[in-house]
Order: sequence, then structure tokens, then C-alpha cells
Amino acid sequence: MRAHLQPKVTFETKPVNCPACGRSCIVDVVYAPFDKETEEKVKQQKLIQGNEDPLAPHPTWGCTSCGTMFYKEK
Ligand SMILES: [Zn+2]
Repeated sequence: MRAHLQPKVTFETKPVNCPACGRSCIVDVVYAPFDKETEEKVKQQKLIQGNEDPLAPHPTWGCTSCGTMFYKEK
């Protein structure tokens, strides 16, 4: 996953189509520790594994097509 800094893209609810690439490849981001089922979904790209480092940004959703990450509006 690319880790370059970018302005935060926020949504109130999970977007259907990615605003960056237009594809419907938005999935939830999960953070360790997670169970086997979740691990499988990460492998199948049905979920994205986030960086659990407390100093790293913690997006709520991500695009599996272009790698853009999205944040939930507080
Ligand atoms: Zn995308």
C-alpha cells in the first residue's frame, strides 16, 4: 500500500464509487488483531489491512483499485 501523504477525503457514509478512479472497489479497512475470517477477506481484497501504528492515519475505507483511502466524517 502506498503511504504518501495526501489530503483526507471524508464521507458520512461508505461511498459506493471511488471518487478517484470511479470504480466500485471501496472496502472497509480493518486493523489488527483480527480473526481468520477477516484475514481471508484481506487476502481476497474484500477488506484492506490498515496500519495499526497509533501514529499512522486510520482511514475507515479504502479503494482496492487505486489505493485511495477515505475517512469517516466525525
Ligand atoms: Zn479508486
